[in-house]
Amino acid sequence: MPNSSFYPLLTHCPICHSLYAKEDVKLVEEAARARLYHSFCRSCGHGLLAYVIESSAGVSSLGMVTDASGVDAVRLAEYEPVSAEECLEAHRLILADSRELCRRLLDISGKLA
Ligand SMILES: [Zn+2]
Repeated sequence: MPNSSFYPLLTHCPICHSLYAKEDVKLVEEAARARLYHSFCRSCGHGLLAYVIESSAGVSSLGMVTDASGVDAVRLAEYEPVSAEECLEAHRLILADSRELCRRLLDISGKLA
């Protein structure tokens, strides 16, 4: 982890403002000028995905609260991104066949058994 005192998203939970334990902030992915970290707050149980981006103007960061664990974050970072067209197709399928989708979800959950 870089000197985290410069990156508030890597030192404090944005939900409860507790300090992260050093071992609960993990580097998930690294590119030339950007790093993705996952943080876990032991106080409130929330996770955070934080991008730290370096540019000629300086360093900026962007965070998103998540229920994904650090293991999930590493696993998901290895997948190809979902495209806008795939999102639209999923939306079309749900609209066109929502009854069957609900039946299958209820069947999987055991509520139809
Ligand atoms: Zn917290």
